[in-house]
Amino acid sequence: MSGHAAIHDVGRDRIVVGAGATWRDVLAAALREGLTPPVLPEYLDLSIGGTIAVGWRSTSSRATDAS
Ligand SMILES: Cc1cc2nc3c(=O)[nH]c(=O)nc-3n(C[C@H](O)[C@H](O)[C@H](O)COP(=O)(O)OP(=O)(O)OC[C@H]3O[C@@H](n4cnc5c(N)ncnc54)[C@H](O)[C@@H]3O)c2cc1C
Repeated sequence: MSGHAAIHDVGRDRIVVGAGATWRDVLAAALREGLTPPVLPEYLDLSIGGTIAVGWRSTSSRATDAS
């Protein structure tokens, strides 16, 4: 799925990425804009598509200090 890992657009309240992008990709793209996602999984190498496919549970996720 690496061909679908593109970061398409980073906005202040949303980011548009390919399903193969990882949370690490998302965090790096957000940090380049001075932003942090409001929540992240503890393991950043999960894909966005794979996370959504299993329902995105927050029990092992961490809220970030996005202020
Ligand atoms: C260490 C660890 C920590 C985790 N922490 C969290 C957490 O904090 N929150 C949370 O919600 N989940 C968490 N998970 C679960 C994780 O979200 C799932 O295992 C997810 O399916 C991983 O997706 P992947 O694509 O990275 O892995 P893969 O092994 O590549 O894929 C896993 C499954 O997802 C399917 N899949 C992948 N991409 C897509 C797609 N684009 N469309 C449809 N199906 C797809 C695959 O076919 C496969 O069945 C964690 C898992 C691990 C191993």
